[in-house]
Formats: sequence, structure tokens, C-alpha cells
Amino acid sequence: MIRMILLGAPGSGKGTQAQRLKAKYGVPQISSGDLLRDAVARGTELGLQAKVAMNSGQLVSDDIVLGLIRERLSAPDAAKGFVLDGFPRNIDQADALDRMLEGIKQRLDAVVLLDVRPETLMRRLAGRRTCPNCGAVYNVFFSPPTAENRCDRCGHAELIQRPDDQDEVIAKRLEVYQAQTRPLVAHYKKKGLLRIVAGEGPLDEVFARMESAALHTLKSDSAKLAEKIEVKASAGGRRAAKSGTVRATSAAKKKSRRASAAAKKRGMPAKVVKVAKVDRPAKQKPSRAAKKSRSGKTPRLQKKAAKAANSVKKAVTRFATAVRKKFSKATKTKAGKKK
Ligand code: AMP
Repeated sequence: MIRMILLGAPGSGKGTQAQRLKAKYGVPQISSGDLLRDAVARGTELGLQAKVAMNSGQLVSDDIVLGLIRERLSAPDAAKGFVLDGFPRNIDQADALDRMLEGIKQRLDAVVLLDVRPETLMRRLAGRRTCPNCGAVYNVFFSPPTAENRCDRCGHAELIQRPDDQDEVIAKRLEVYQAQTRPLVAHYKKKGLLRIVAGEGPLDEVFARMESAALHTLKSDSAKLAEKIEVKASAGGRRAAKSGTVRATSAAKKKSRRASAAAKKRGMPAKVVKVAKVDRPAKQKPSRAAKKSRSGKTPRLQKKAAKAANSVKKAVTRFATAVRKKFSKATKTKAGKKK
């Protein structure tokens, strides 16, 4: 289970890496750009509204984007995790995402920033070509098709350039990124979720770096959780042990079992969770009532002691009466003999 955001400027490779995460971890890639392009292609009302902003390199209004994301996040496949690509794009969207996740009782595991130099971004975006038939993606600078402008995969004769990959639109998109999206870096850093990964170099290497950064966050998160669980479990154990009974041991074990199950559910290694062992009851500390009592006994023990003292008293009385009776009998017999 992984719930993460891929952050980065247009052209930083979020889409490519998100697809790899999807393939490896089986979680859906949720790309706001793809959702918007789909709405545009279907010619929906939302799509028509979004198209103008998209073609000029501006952000589409939060209302439209949030509606699409909310719907997508509530799809059954997103319940087991997701990789958000291109969303959120500003602080308001990030806050809205927090509320959405709160509503469905989920939380983010990691935010990975793919860090790429502006000149590389320009070449990646301006050189990108797509096959309109099968969706294969090329780059005229880094990974051109074998035959110029022809798709290697399906043989389609003309590759196209996305309207927002034109030079002047790219410049606008990068400007919008700096002004509106870049502040999310500090935002998620403050939340302790941010990991920065160098986004240049061979795709496999970027993926490995990104994976280890995301998993590092997950691991440390799990470790924190394990600690929390461990403390809770041992606190439960201690509390249970205080009562000094066999029941205390099973209560502590039950808590530990629950802790292990919770950790396992989060994909955490089971061995991280130490089971709080409470085999022997801990030393019983005197309660406040006992501290107050002069005898140092708890009210329950006081009651027990009083009962015991009472029965001893009764036994002594019975013994004394019997002795007295015997003595008086003996005295009477002696006196009769004298007569
Ligand atoms: P992308 O494919 O992520 O680069 O997105 C392409 C275009 O879609 C952007 O330039 C924006 O116009 C629009 N877009 C994508 N995601 C968002 C978002 N989260 N908020 C607003 N606009 C977005």
C-alpha cells in the first residue's frame, strides 16, 4: 500500500515514473493532466472550460480539477493506494486534498519531488512527440523514433506535439509552476513528507532513486508507527500487569497481537514490532488508598485481614470457653470427692 504525490515541474518525468510505480506496486496513477485531457477529448462541459486554460499554459480552475480528483479518488481501485501525478498544483489544492483524504480516512505516505534543471525541462517538453494512434511517447532529442516522425510501435505515419508543448506555452507553464506549484515543496517539507530525488539520468536509475526515497519515508513512517504501537502495547502490558493477574498477561498479548496486525496491514516488516511480553506480574505499587492507610494495606486486604482477625478471635473465644467449662467440671468433681 502506497499513497504518494509525485511533485515536479512540467517535463520532470512525473508521468513516466508514476507509470512505473503503477506497474510495480499495482496502485493507480492519478494524473490530473490526463483526467483533464480526457474530458477535453470527450468534449464534456468541463473539458471545454478546461481546454482554454490548458492550451495557454495556465492552471485549470480548482473547482474543475478538485471535482475530477474527488471522483477518481473515490473509485474502488484507489482504496488500496495511489500515485498522484500533477496534483496538487497549488496550496489550496493541497489543503483540499488533505480534507478529501481525511474524509475517506486515508493519509499521505510520501511526497517525492523530481528535481530537474530548467534547460533539461525545456528539451524534454519541446522535444516530446506522441503517437495519436497507440499513445507511444518519443523525444526528438533523447529518444527519437527510428524513422522520422513515424511510430516504431504501430507504424502510424505522423507523430504529434501536444498543443501545450509549444515553446511559448512551455515558458508559461514553467512560470506558473514556479509561482504556484513550487511553494508546495516547503509545504510538504514542513509536514515531514518531502523527499527530493535527482530526476535526470537513465529512467531506471531515477526510478530506483525515487523508489528508495519513497520507501525510506514509508519505512521511517512504519518505524515511527511501530515505536508508537510498541509503546502503546507495553503501556497496555504494564497497565494490565499492575493488576498482577493472569488476565493481565492475556490482555497485553491481545494488545500486541492487534499492534502486529496493524503494522502488517501497513506493509511493515513484522519483526519491527516487538511484542510486549508480560509473563510475570510487575511489582505491585501501593495504591493511593493504601498509601493513606496506616497499615499500608489496600482496602481489600484490610477487609480480608479484619475477617481473618475476627475468625481468630472467635476461635480463641471458643477455645477459652471450652477450657473454662473443662476446668469448672474438674473443680466440681474434686469438690464432690472431698465431701
Ligand atoms: P500536465 O499533463 O500535468 O502537465 O497538465 C497539463 C495541463 O493541465 C496543465 O498545464 C494545466 O493547464 C492542466 N492541469 C493539470 N493538472 C492540473 C491541476 N492539478 N490544477 C490545475 N490545472 C492542471
